[in-house]
Amino acid sequence: MLRIGCHLSSSGGFTAMGKTALSIGANTFQFFTRNPRGGAAKAISQKDVDEFLNLCRDCDITNILAHAPYTLNACAAKESVREFAFNTMADDLKRMEYVPGNMYNFHPGSHVGQGIETGIKMIAEVLNTVMWEDMNTTVLLETMAGKGSEVGSRFEEIRDIIAAAKYQDKLGVCLDTCHVYDAGYDIVNDLDGVLDSFDRVIGLDRLYAVHLNDSKNPYSSHKDRHEVLGGGFIGKDAVERIVNHPKLRTLPFLLETPNELEGYAREIELIKTLYRE
Ligand code: FE
Ligand code: FE
Ligand code: ZN
Repeated sequence: MLRIGCHLSSSGGFTAMGKTALSIGANTFQFFTRNPRGGAAKAISQKDVDEFLNLCRDCDITNILAHAPYTLNACAAKESVREFAFNTMADDLKRMEYVPGNMYNFHPGSHVGQGIETGIKMIAEVLNTVMWEDMNTTVLLETMAGKGSEVGSRFEEIRDIIAAAKYQDKLGVCLDTCHVYDAGYDIVNDLDGVLDSFDRVIGLDRLYAVHLNDSKNPYSSHKDRHEVLGGGFIGKDAVERIVNHPKLRTLPFLLETPNELEGYAREIELIKTLYRE
C-alpha cells in the first residue's frame, strides 16, 4: 500500500498535523521538531498526543518522520555547535517517545575541513551519547547532496557512521532523491544500479524512508535545491519508476518540494495516479 505525505508545519501540534495530512490525501507526514534554525522546542501536550494517537489509529496514519533542525551539526569544529547537536538530539529523541514507533531524521553534518573520517567519528559519538538501548524511535541518517563539506553524500560514509555506532538496530537511512541525484547517483537512468549499490554498501534493510523531491540542478551537481515533482532534472518518469520500484514501493514517501498545501495535495494526487496497486 502507498505511504505518501509531505513536510508540514508543526506549529499547531500533532493533531493539527494529522488532520492537515488527511485533508490533502496523505497517510503520513514529516515535521520539524523545532524551528529549523534551532532554538527551544514547544512543550508537548499530553492531550494533543492522545488525540493524535487516536487519529492515527482511526485514520491509518503511520510512519511519521520528525526532522532535526538544519543547524544541527554533529561534526562541527566548534565545541558550542557540537554541544547544540548533543542537547537538541537528546531532547528531540526524548520527545519522540510520546509518539513511539516512528522515525527521527537528521543530516549527518558538515566536517568543515576536519576531514570525512573525523566527521564520521564525531557523528557516531553524538549518536552513541544521545541514543539508548530500549528507545522506541528509529534514527535515520539522510543521504546528502555533497554540498560543501557535507558528510553522507556517499553510501560508504553512511555505512561507516552506522558501523561506528552502538545502537545499530535503532539506526536507518532516509534516501533523498534530490540529494542522491545531486551527489552523483543516477536514479534517472540506472535506478536498479543505485539500489544495488545501496544494498551492497549499506543494506536495503536499513532503508526506512524516501524524501521524494525533484532537483533544480543536473546530475552530480552537488547543489541540493529541491524542485516540484516533474519540474526538474529527475522528471516525472523517473518519479514513477521510483514509487513503483519493488524495493521502494512499501516505504513512506515524503515530499519536500517547494509547495504550499494545495501544491502538495496535487503532488500526492499525482503519485496516487502513478502508483500501481
Ligand atoms: Fe533533510
Ligand atoms: Fe530531504
Ligand atoms: Zn535538501
